[in-house]
Amino acid sequence: MTRGAVYLVGAGPGDPGLLTVRGQELLRRADVVVYDHLVSPRLLTECRGHTTFVYVGKESDGRAARQPAINARLVREARAGKQVVRLKGGDPFVFGRGGEEALALASAKISYEIVPGVTSAIGVPAYAGIPVTHRQVASSVAIITGHEDPTKGASSIRWQHLATSCDTVVCLMAVRQLPMIVHQLMRHGARGTTPCAVIEWGTTPAQRTVSGTLRTIIGMARRACVRPPAVLVVGAVVALRRKLKWFERKPLFGRRILVTRASEKAERFAKQLEALGAQVERLPAIELAPVAHNGVFREMVKDSPNADWVFFTSPEGVGWLTRMLKRHRKDLRWLSGCHIGAIGSTTAAAIEAHGLHVDFIPKHFSQEGMLRDFPQRVSRGKRALIFSAQESRDVLINGLRRQGMRVMKVPIYRNVVPKALTSGAGMLFREPFDFVTVTSASCVEHLYEALRAFGKAPLFRRLRFASIGPVTSHRVRAHGGRIAVEARRSTIEGLMDAMVKRARTR
Ligand code: SAH
Repeated sequence: MTRGAVYLVGAGPGDPGLLTVRGQELLRRADVVVYDHLVSPRLLTECRGHTTFVYVGKESDGRAARQPAINARLVREARAGKQVVRLKGGDPFVFGRGGEEALALASAKISYEIVPGVTSAIGVPAYAGIPVTHRQVASSVAIITGHEDPTKGASSIRWQHLATSCDTVVCLMAVRQLPMIVHQLMRHGARGTTPCAVIEWGTTPAQRTVSGTLRTIIGMARRACVRPPAVLVVGAVVALRRKLKWFERKPLFGRRILVTRASEKAERFAKQLEALGAQVERLPAIELAPVAHNGVFREMVKDSPNADWVFFTSPEGVGWLTRMLKRHRKDLRWLSGCHIGAIGSTTAAAIEAHGLHVDFIPKHFSQEGMLRDFPQRVSRGKRALIFSAQESRDVLINGLRRQGMRVMKVPIYRNVVPKALTSGAGMLFREPFDFVTVTSASCVEHLYEALRAFGKAPLFRRLRFASIGPVTSHRVRAHGGRIAVEARRSTIEGLMDAMVKRARTR
């Protein structure tokens, strides 16, 4: 049996990307994770299936009596031979009682390690565009708590020194005690005109910064209803924020966006939106499944495809064809001799990723675009196959037939409704979204049906849809929905551009 151990790991201040590489490694092999209230839930998805999660969140409401219970739990799990990650917000040794936990482990002779993290005292100001030191402006910084141990009696913060000899003061747990902290600093010599800022939920898409001076900040924070967790920064460095607020200037900062793509692709899209500052929720409205009793394909695969052209209408089609061929002990060499058409650049990229050359991509990425751009003189008298979803429209097949091509549609996958959609659809009406992104007509259909199942179909009209292209938009409008923005180019990048452009104009 491996010996049990406890790792006190800093989770960073909120943005899951601020976890250290060491922290991630330990989370991935933890048996038990004991975590706090301020830890991003996304980090827990790093763990393996068998990990046990223990939530010991406590807010600053004085429920400190639980600390001995937490210590005892850590000791018990480690003695049972478990690899325990004690995941703490920010840095474990900055006001997180990490020191007390380490002492308890040391005295119980448990092996332990400390994995430092990005503390909110520095990381949160950084995301608000405030460097806590700056060569010309501040060469010292103090980190203090606004919530001292109530059992300690008199305050041990030496306000007279802090107010006059430290260039920057960062105060954690500052919300409730904000008036006291400000008064103490001013009473002990800090000027009322000193710039300061309160930053709520820093480094997350919900980040909110209220800035003013020592004289004005109490009223401003009260009017803005600032709530914990928040950090107070006091000092001349706060003024640099005017030029440096990089995070809050991101094009989609503060926008709530729903991603409804199939779950395999949703994550990449969501990450791209988050990189632009958006607050993203995920509700996959589509799942791909094999076609039941696919006789057409089964017959066809016995021989060569017997076609001059093959068309792919989605990037997924390429993967599904590969998978289906494999079942028949074949691979994409089966297409040898066929020319290949792809409906758009992403589909073409998916084909090229298999080492195949794509012979034709239309200017507009849709079945209509393909039909318009594909040279008629090439189609006449030729044979073609269209690999697509079972539900895909018949625009291309009918059009090519009219042009004298002998075309057959080969369904190679189906779009189905994910089980979780019906239960998750409540998300659509709980909090408003700036954009509900839709990337296919099936996706729209499934969302509409999910709302209907909730008895909330009328709500569909109130959603603000961001659509990938005219066919998808058409389906939204058919149900009475509103298109807030439509991609000019029917790609994910086009969809993002459209949202960014709209966000800029508001
Ligand atoms: N060990 C932690 C601090 C724990 S005390 C660290 O190093 O960051 C908890 C306090 O941290 C909160 O009351 C708040 O003042 C601050 N804090 C933590 N996360 C924060 C966030 N995302 N935004 C603003 N303040 C945060």
